[in-house]
Amino acid sequence: MQPLNSNKPIQTHKQKIKKILTCFILSSLIILSKTYPLNLQKNELDNLRILLEKINTEDINLTIKGNYLSLKYSTEEFPSIYQGGFHLANQITILSLKPTLKFFYDHNYQNTNEIQNYKNIMILSSNYLEYKGKKYRGKFLIIPKDKNYYLINLIGMDDYLRSVVPSEMPSSWELEALKAQAIAARTYAIKVTIERRKKGEIFDLYSTVLDQAYYGMEKENPKTDEAVYKTKDLIIVYNNQPIWALYHSNCGGETLDGKIVFPQRLNTNDQYLSPVKCLYKGKNWENKVELYTIKKNLAKLINSNIYSIDNIYTNNFKIYFVYNKNSIYSLYTWEIRKLIGYNIIRSPYITNLLIQGEYVIFQGIGFGHGVGLCQFGANMLAKNGFNYQEIIKYYYKNIEIIDLGRWLENANI
Ligand SMILES: [Zn+2]
Repeated sequence: MQPLNSNKPIQTHKQKIKKILTCFILSSLIILSKTYPLNLQKNELDNLRILLEKINTEDINLTIKGNYLSLKYSTEEFPSIYQGGFHLANQITILSLKPTLKFFYDHNYQNTNEIQNYKNIMILSSNYLEYKGKKYRGKFLIIPKDKNYYLINLIGMDDYLRSVVPSEMPSSWELEALKAQAIAARTYAIKVTIERRKKGEIFDLYSTVLDQAYYGMEKENPKTDEAVYKTKDLIIVYNNQPIWALYHSNCGGETLDGKIVFPQRLNTNDQYLSPVKCLYKGKNWENKVELYTIKKNLAKLINSNIYSIDNIYTNNFKIYFVYNKNSIYSLYTWEIRKLIGYNIIRSPYITNLLIQGEYVIFQGIGFGHGVGLCQFGANMLAKNGFNYQEIIKYYYKNIEIIDLGRWLENANI
């Protein structure tokens, strides 16, 4: 284990490969470092930056395992070159990130290193990287910013989707439904990545349901791999722009209008997330919420005291609260999901509301936000002989499925 810059007379085959790999990564990062204008090439969209964790610098306890790990560092936030590094460890433990990077390499805790004035760390492995018991392909970036550090997995689109598709849809489902899911997930990733890069953000996608569930290699499965590879590079466009390819578990019988549920994401003339009737009738659910919780949240929302909630009723995706005897406040059903919890109010399709003593009973149908592709519905369509193009066109209206490279040639982004 020695600095890469040291004079070493003998270069092993492994080291040569590492050098080639480093050149490749550096050239990718030069491209990644651009922010304005976004003149994207396809290979840049093949280096997705997935945020694994954002942690306060004071809580640092970061151990990364792998085979023949290398650690490189740079004084630039978006480096075109890494100034130096260390390699050939199977474990790296970072002890502090600010103001000085201190870390051990290997598990015997004898070799400590300190680096000052760095802004970006890259960790590479000859095989996979392991963090908190999960294995990841690609590389890791660690970027300190403000009072946090961002642990980012730099990964190609196909490898990203090999994890996302089985995390978002059971791999035992119909292949055509899995292919539709792969295209929706790829399109969503492209859309969000472009939006965040335009803003100059340091990562492209959250690894959670805030964007798409991504758990590294553990979910990978031959059937979902096939769905990813057989739809390679296919994305959904509307007016020649990638769409917000939203999807959800089951809609409850009819999907919702994306323009109403997500007005901040869609223009008023975007028609592709219009409601469609669904073959899958949806699953019923019932959950109770303490009246006190509702009172507390409502008081916060209207910024006033609530002495009594006298009635609650629902009509046409709105919930009406009659409070303090004669005041009324209404919320959309998707807004109350955000307020109370997405797993408690499982869908915006609320069919009934009852006050029972100190509780409010919510009854509904479906699971998820109800916009775009309904996963249970997609699987049912596939069982009825629909192929992936037909499934996509069933849930997203007036769209085209095209090759990402072809789109980028004519794209104005
Ligand atoms: Zn449905």
